[in-house]
Amino acid sequence: MTRIKDALDAVAAAVIAQKDYLTSLDAKIGDGDHGLNMARGFRAAQEAVEEMDDTTLPGPVLKTIGKALIQNVGGAAGPLYGAGFVSAGEACDGDTHMNVASIEKLLSAAIAAIQKRGRAAQGDKTMLDTLIPVRDCFLPENAQDKPLFEVLQDASRAAGEGVNYTKTIAARKGRASLVGERSIGIEDPGAVSSMVMYRALYQFLK
Ligand code: ADP
Ligand code: MG
Ligand code: MG
Repeated sequence: MTRIKDALDAVAAAVIAQKDYLTSLDAKIGDGDHGLNMARGFRAAQEAVEEMDDTTLPGPVLKTIGKALIQNVGGAAGPLYGAGFVSAGEACDGDTHMNVASIEKLLSAAIAAIQKRGRAAQGDKTMLDTLIPVRDCFLPENAQDKPLFEVLQDASRAAGEGVNYTKTIAARKGRASLVGERSIGIEDPGAVSSMVMYRALYQFLK
């Protein structure tokens, strides 16, 4: 089954397509490298997955993506996303296919790893302001007995709302916290890259 690799290619293509936009946001409130970092990381992830003998299970592929991000991207977001992908892969080790519960499990594992490393909370204007609302859509109390496609769609909307929320708040973590209140009015680059990745996956799956 090549579907997992195809999903990675879809996500990588979306990240690379948004490279300049991500970098322009980061230029306003950080050091202007987020798009470059993400594009470099996902190219490295594609190469690393290309080298794998067996790409049929999501767990090992997610771990390989994570390790490639850690090894090839400096700065804040690469190692944080890398740790997130590695933990997501560990959480679904052995799972052969994805459903609402397994997606909730891997997103929760990714968020826990990102918070363990970065010590940020929701409302600090980071990638977590997208990832946490996306994950929350998959929690049993919100997913109820909805079909998977409906939960995936809820999460796509939640990702956009998360990005919009980051526009209204000042950064308290990462480089953007250095400009503090002046970051209000600008979308957080990492929140946008999380939305881009999630929505590429959603478009691929639906
Ligand atoms: P750097 O800031 O080192 O240049 P990037 O520009 O690639 O790294 O990534 C910046 C993004 O990383 C921010 O927009 C934010 O979403 C995310 N980020 C920064 N610090 C943290 C943190 N402590 N926890 C979670 N996300 C963070
Ligand atoms: Mg940066
Ligand atoms: Mg940097």
